[in-house]
Amino acid sequence: MTSGNRFETLDRYRRLGWVAWVVLILAVTGCSTNPVTGRSQLMLVSENAAISASSQAYTEVLDSARKEGRVDADSRTKARVNAIAERVVAQAVRYRPETADWDWQIAVIEAPDNLNAFAMAGGKMAIYTGIIDKLSLTDDELAQIIAHEIAHALSSHSAEKMSVALASNLALTAYAVTGDRNELAVTGAALAALMAVQLPNSRQMEAEADRIGIELAARAGYRPEAAAQLWAKMAAEGGARQPVFLSTHPAPASRQRDLQTLAVQVQPLYEQAIRSRLPRHPVR
Ligand SMILES: [Zn+2]
Repeated sequence: MTSGNRFETLDRYRRLGWVAWVVLILAVTGCSTNPVTGRSQLMLVSENAAISASSQAYTEVLDSARKEGRVDADSRTKARVNAIAERVVAQAVRYRPETADWDWQIAVIEAPDNLNAFAMAGGKMAIYTGIIDKLSLTDDELAQIIAHEIAHALSSHSAEKMSVALASNLALTAYAVTGDRNELAVTGAALAALMAVQLPNSRQMEAEADRIGIELAARAGYRPEAAAQLWAKMAAEGGARQPVFLSTHPAPASRQRDLQTLAVQVQPLYEQAIRSRLPRHPVR
């Protein structure tokens, strides 16, 4: 997203009503445990509240890109992204069977200079063409990005970041500039979801998404060593201009090394997968 678009979108949300915040606060659930890793997470927003807010925020982001003709609906790239996502989501659903009911989506957004991808609650994801084209991603590397984003969705990281957004006053600032009090209740939560997607993931979240992502990708038949290769490409592209992906996906220097270690651990899963018939789960 360019900052111009982002602020336009946020502006629209500034007209949200106070009712939104009451509803959001009623959704408060306190601390909870990561459904996949068991880590304790700050959860002021329930996963269901995050899913419904994310769905609204996602529609908002896609509508604005669609108006500019930037949503890629039927190219070779979209087909390639979906084919990978369908294989990886089929594995994600095995970790958390209830996510089979999610309306999984992955949009390809035309943005040659945007090296980014994101995931919102409930499996609403997007990838920008910049990261695919500029890094000349192979299917195995692209699968690592998609699996990493799927892992964020699977681990409720959106709800956690929405909680951080609320707790850190960002949302309260939006509340302070609220004008119109008649907006739909969920709109305020959608603002928190939009803010969450722009907040950097914590290193803990990144480590979780790396670990779960590389395993999901291996089980879906994608080469584990592609994860470290991807980060090497990202670092090389960095140079003068830092890829946006790195601003929302902070990486310690040890990341490539950690990914290489993980790759060795999940290699048997990959070898088993490529000898099997790989299931798919529908992704829009
Ligand atoms: Zn990440």
